[in-house]
Amino acid sequence: MPEAAKPDVVRRAESMVRKDDKGGFPPQEQDPPGLTGRMDPIPDHGEETWVGRDRLTGLKALVTGADSGIGRAVAIAFAREGADVAISYLEAEQEDAEETARLVREAGRNAVLVPGDLVERETCEQVVTDAVEGLGGLDILVNNAGFHWARDGDALDGLTPETVERTLRTNFDAILWLCKAAAPHLGDGASIINTSSVQAYDPSTPLLDYAATKAAVNNLTVNLAAALGPRGIRVNAVAPGPVWTPLQPATRRAQDVEKFGAETPLGRAAQPSELAGAYVFLASPEEASYVSGTVIGVTGGRPVF
Ligand code: NAD
Ligand code: MG
Repeated sequence: MPEAAKPDVVRRAESMVRKDDKGGFPPQEQDPPGLTGRMDPIPDHGEETWVGRDRLTGLKALVTGADSGIGRAVAIAFAREGADVAISYLEAEQEDAEETARLVREAGRNAVLVPGDLVERETCEQVVTDAVEGLGGLDILVNNAGFHWARDGDALDGLTPETVERTLRTNFDAILWLCKAAAPHLGDGASIINTSSVQAYDPSTPLLDYAATKAAVNNLTVNLAAALGPRGIRVNAVAPGPVWTPLQPATRRAQDVEKFGAETPLGRAAQPSELAGAYVFLASPEEASYVSGTVIGVTGGRPVF
């Protein structure tokens, strides 16, 4: 299409995506959980681009893993849409969490920091208690914290008791305990959004245990939607494809980062900013009033059925 004939919305979208992006990133590794400032390039969380349209005005959200990556993009978008945000993260991620909080406050909303390791059930309960206290209530729970390990070899060879335990407890057990603790605080119009993965549908062998936890998250999403629907609470999930976040250089081998995302039909990984729209839609009591028990894929074209 000639440049002059392009609608403004197409021009804006093109300016947000690296046009020369052929997939992959400079080879790099860091220790888990990973920090944003050590990534090359620094991910785009929508800092310069997300425009709020009052879709979540007055709502209160707890977002786990909100310090970085997809969680930070969701926190920024939620705040610009008018929501207050409690940011759950690991203590090692304090600098990332403070930056997310700064961006939420810059949007004129309340930000509450709730650190803690969610592999412990008691911590899940404490994080919800602290969020409810700090925000003065709760309308949205985004279960987004996650972990995988793909550095020690393929499939069964790469499994260690420590990393499998951490993967299962972070990606699955924590969601159960967070939902159980949050449910009594949620009312009509509230919602829960879980972060699943394309791995639930199209698993890759280095992520044997992780992929199974995400399939379990999908199952849990449907069942929780049935359990909480009668109380007017909607439960959904977002299944991202490859996204450029600290999780990747912190848990993959440097040479795998080099081609990360290149295998998708769109030929590149997403930036975290490209995920936020799905979460805002699902959280909106107006736009998604009849949407529950479903999974939205944001995968660059890989199948989610
Ligand atoms: P990220 O590293 O930015 O976010 C993950 C967050 O999880 C961390 O910031 C950390 O705060 C939190 N976390 C991990 N273990 C925790 C624990 N024990 N206690 C408390 N918090 C803990 O990476 P991301 O890619 O934005 O990950 C967000 C979600 O997206 C995860 O559930 C991940 O599985 C999912 N996901 C990511 C991709 C991808 O390509 N990046 C693809 C599909 C799904
Ligand atoms: Mg982080």
